[in-house]
Amino acid sequence: MGKKFIDQLNFEFARKELTKELSQKGIKDPRVLEAIYQIPRHEFVDATFTSRAYQDMSLPIGHQQTISQPFVVAKMTELLIQGNVLDQKPLGAVLEIGTGCGYQTAILARFCRKVFSLERIEALSLRADNNLKKIGVDNCQLRWSDGTLGWPTPKKFDAIICTAAISQIPKKLKTQLELHGKLICPVGDGKKQHLLLLEKKSKDEFHETILDSVLFVPMLEGKVSE
Ligand code: SAH
Repeated sequence: MGKKFIDQLNFEFARKELTKELSQKGIKDPRVLEAIYQIPRHEFVDATFTSRAYQDMSLPIGHQQTISQPFVVAKMTELLIQGNVLDQKPLGAVLEIGTGCGYQTAILARFCRKVFSLERIEALSLRADNNLKKIGVDNCQLRWSDGTLGWPTPKKFDAIICTAAISQIPKKLKTQLELHGKLICPVGDGKKQHLLLLEKKSKDEFHETILDSVLFVPMLEGKVSE
């Protein structure tokens, strides 16, 4: 047997173990666990971190950014799809702020028609695009742009997910959310954050639920090409 083949088997085994761990930690939706099992997280990290790709932890991806912890990716996905996919109504357009390496994008892409994802660091956006192509995810559109300003052309989304923390949810994101859509975002500063789930009840009315404490990198304004 070739080394590549053995590596693949090991990765698959490690992913199975990770899904068991996430299920023990409270992820219930079998479709989310299946997504974690199917998406090769090791393709989204640098070779230095391959051996740690299936540990439930965030890892550096360069540019002082990280790939999110699998539990948090699974939890946020579960919250977004509840009442949609489970009712046999897949989501349409979903907006992600903070593409990073594209791992959360790949997971989300299994649950909606199309993911639109914004990243402020050009190099990361390009790398994520490669990562997603490499594993055959084609229902996503990435853009190098400041997510606090929302999607750059007028558009409404069935769901919005932010993967960087901010003290207050940008108004533009609330506007770009469809009626009855859900927006999930880590809210807080560098030390204390929690997930905030908004459900749009009318043009200016949102139902708010405060969820788990988390630790994300900060959402920053402006875009950089480094
Ligand atoms: N979704 C990623 C997590 C990436 S970390 C994953 O699956 O692992 C958060 C990312 O948000 C970083 O890459 C950071 O550069 C980006 N980010 C921070 N502020 C932003 C902004 N205003 N607009 C777009 N991206 C932003």
